[in-house]
Amino acid sequence: MIIASSKAERRLLELGIHSPNEIDLEAIAWDEGVRVQYKELIGCEARLVGYNNRAIVTIRNQSDQRRKRFSLAHELGHWNYHRGRSFECRVDDWIEGYTVKPAEEREADTYASELLMPKYMFEPVAKKLKRPTFDGVKQLADAFNTSITATAIRLVNINAWPLVLVCHSKNGRVWFNRSKDVPERWFPQKELSQDSMAFDQLFANEARVRAQKATADTWFDNHEAERYEIIEDAIKISNDRVLSLLWIENDEMLKEISYSRFYR
Ligand SMILES: [Zn+2]
Repeated sequence: MIIASSKAERRLLELGIHSPNEIDLEAIAWDEGVRVQYKELIGCEARLVGYNNRAIVTIRNQSDQRRKRFSLAHELGHWNYHRGRSFECRVDDWIEGYTVKPAEEREADTYASELLMPKYMFEPVAKKLKRPTFDGVKQLADAFNTSITATAIRLVNINAWPLVLVCHSKNGRVWFNRSKDVPERWFPQKELSQDSMAFDQLFANEARVRAQKATADTWFDNHEAERYEIIEDAIKISNDRVLSLLWIENDEMLKEISYSRFYR
């Protein structure tokens, strides 16, 4: 028996949904009393107006199909968690302000991520990837009909592989996210190293190449870093944003180091 690990997953299991292509968001919305419409929206990606047990969600029709899908799932998150209130959401912000967004927005994002990529479906496929690189992320994104960024974040959060995901703009690090198995001492540098793949794509407009080995000090200041190698991959997601996926495959790097002996 599958045990739901979140409210969104419980919902999917109640509906008897067991494969990604059965996740029909409009049908789920209908079932919850939510009418969905697509319109030209300016200044926001999606809007939810609720009254009693019914709501209308409006999605910006100029956006691409996977973003619309995420936006609808996000609004269903508000409907499930924050009933009785109305929202106007710039859903793309969830990536940018990853740690500084209001709690309700983060809750809605988490709900969306769990509804579109439920652990009981996502984790088994993620664990079967040959390598956790952006080629693997693309496979998952196609299977779950989600964006590269949302899928990469889910892959890191689900902790199927020891990964660090970092987003840089030309001005430096915008946000990063780390799998649970990666110790906190691996904290990515603010500035992109000129030796990184991400640097070539962001500043030299070079095309993406395959994931490759890099010395860990390309990414981390940590004094042990020069001893290790990691696998890095990078993909440009907009003019001024590049995502890097760092696979910490060396077991030594994953060991928690106890510093207590220094304090005795
Ligand atoms: Zn929202």
